[in-house]
Amino acid sequence: MFQSHVVVLIAGLFALQMAVVCVVLRRSSGMERSGLTSWALGSVLAAFAAALAAVQALRPMWLVPESTDLALLAALSVMAVGARHFAQRPGRAAGLLGLNLAAAAAVAWGDLAPRYLATAAALPDLAPVLSACHIVLLLDLARSVVPSVPATRGTGRLAAWSLAAITISAAAINAWTVLRPLAAMAQGGAWPRPMPWDGELAMFNVFALVGVSVSFALMAHDRLRRMLERRARHDDLTDVLLRGAFWEELEAACLQAERQRKPMTVAFVDLDHFKAINDVYGHLAGDSVLRHFAGLLRKTLGHGDLAGRLGGEEFAIVMPDTALETGRLACLRLATAVRATPCPSEPDPIAYTVSIGVAARQPGEGADALMRRADRALYDAKLKGRNCVSLHPVGGDNAAPAADAAEGAGRYVTRGQPRVAS
Ligand code: GH3
Ligand code: MG
Ligand code: MG
Repeated sequence: MFQSHVVVLIAGLFALQMAVVCVVLRRSSGMERSGLTSWALGSVLAAFAAALAAVQALRPMWLVPESTDLALLAALSVMAVGARHFAQRPGRAAGLLGLNLAAAAAVAWGDLAPRYLATAAALPDLAPVLSACHIVLLLDLARSVVPSVPATRGTGRLAAWSLAAITISAAAINAWTVLRPLAAMAQGGAWPRPMPWDGELAMFNVFALVGVSVSFALMAHDRLRRMLERRARHDDLTDVLLRGAFWEELEAACLQAERQRKPMTVAFVDLDHFKAINDVYGHLAGDSVLRHFAGLLRKTLGHGDLAGRLGGEEFAIVMPDTALETGRLACLRLATAVRATPCPSEPDPIAYTVSIGVAARQPGEGADALMRRADRALYDAKLKGRNCVSLHPVGGDNAAPAADAAEGAGRYVTRGQPRVAS
């Protein structure tokens, strides 16, 4: 019922729609450098190639036979540039421009020269050469996309693999057109004449490009979704989890620890005399200290540990599968790193310290009760003069924090107002 020119035109409409999708995604903040403009342009060129293929299917004598291939080559080149930007490896596009110009010049010469120049040398069938260019560009697309396949399951990963599969299969099918003349010449024959299926190959390439542009639109959409999700769960300033997201993770970790009967430790961290840092150095410097602390926090966290900013200069850490003593040592390492590493600032670095309250989860204990005990331990650390790690003993909410928990290995004393490190 449907003739080939109708089908290829429908495919072209798909490509146009993907161009619109790319333009819409490009307008979201954070997606500016994802190659979406190139992909929008590439999809428009693919739609143009589809229109040319439809015209050729209806009226083969109207156009230069290679015009669809040229449009496809231009579309693929622009998409290859976009894919490199998407993979954050832009590189130079001069080679791609040169490839397109050379192909256009060869086609123009092959078509126009015999008409207007009596002595013009006739060019052999260019289809294999154009197919070779397609193969190079298709493989370039796959090469850009495969390393940036998302590690986690989902639409983005599926779309990236489908894009790679389409490009590699299309390259393999195009290879047939390249191998045919090479095989003929190897057997002593001449460069073959155009074959009837060359036009169908161009149509196949149009479908492949439309498939590729749909896959790319899905990949870009998935990247945007992940970015927004991350922004909604992470603090702008410190890039650790926001209070709500942290609490969700904490509750999930408590449930898992209960189910698996594994230990779990949490820590409440508060920067000491932070108000004074703001007063002495200004709020911007205070923000730098928060960012600096979050950096040290991330470095100290073990695999599977989570950190969140509960508000102001208060942070919390969840350490799944960690007993109290191991958690205490991790917190000591953090406190020591903070004390030893002042926040870089002009004219002088800003030295600061933290107080940490640590509590290990008891069987049956929920997130609220556990954090309340860690908070009490933090209160105790503050009472003891700050800049120390305090443990909450086992024994419920009413038990007093261990009076000597932060003594010995855990305790070091540098009290007083924030000072300027020399
Ligand atoms: P303590 O040692 O007892 O914890 O004293 P503190 O000064 O650290 O605690 P306090 O609660 O008195 O002060 C916290 C300050 O943190 C007050 C507030 O202005 C400041 N703060 C809260 N959020 C931010 C922020 O995002 N940036 C900056 N620069 N300051 C903040
Ligand atoms: Mg504080
Ligand atoms: Mg505080």
